[in-house]
Amino acid sequence: MASVTKEKLIILTAPSGAGKTTIKTALLERMEALGFSISATTRQKREGEVDGTDYYFLKPEEFKSKITNDEFVEYEEVYTDQFYGTLKSELQRNWDLGKTVVLDIDVQGAFSIKEKFPHNSFVIFIQPPSMETLKKRLLGRKTESEASLRKRIAKAEQEMQHAESFDSFIINDDLDLAVLESVDLVNGFIER
Ligand code: 5GP
Repeated sequence: MASVTKEKLIILTAPSGAGKTTIKTALLERMEALGFSISATTRQKREGEVDGTDYYFLKPEEFKSKITNDEFVEYEEVYTDQFYGTLKSELQRNWDLGKTVVLDIDVQGAFSIKEKFPHNSFVIFIQPPSMETLKKRLLGRKTESEASLRKRIAKAEQEMQHAESFDSFIINDDLDLAVLESVDLVNGFIER
């Protein structure tokens, strides 16, 4: 029987480069019941990214003012001077549309959300097959500076240690298979 709790959250978390964003996009394309929580960030927009679709790209002062106004459910300085946060208004916007909200956030953010919504959230940790693969993927992106790459690899090494701390984890070795596994997990949670 479907659960009475309608306000549900799916959290996709992973080290940077594990393929989380690709899996998120595939899930959102396939499942109408899902809606994306667009995070706010102070990082630079990458080529191809759209403000208000991929992220709300904010100036540090704008981000700080949202902190002061208590507009975030959680936020993190994911990398030095780069803030990322989940807006309360994004969760509500999706729930008002009757959607289960999907969050693409770092491991620390996933812990925070799980603590705030222990019963109606489900965390999927996406693991790259190995650190070597992850490094190759990050290098292949060509969107990061040398310094940014180093930061991402160091953080990924820490984050990998939490793979088994969450509700479920999948290994993103074969993307099609990882998407299928994610769809199954999400369906299982929605129908709960
Ligand atoms: P990227 O710069 O590659 O888009 O994202 C860097 C990291 O920040 C990723 O792990 C991404 O999931 C995470 N992230 C994106 N939005 C949020 C957010 O709202 N909160 C937290 N805690 N992390 C986020």
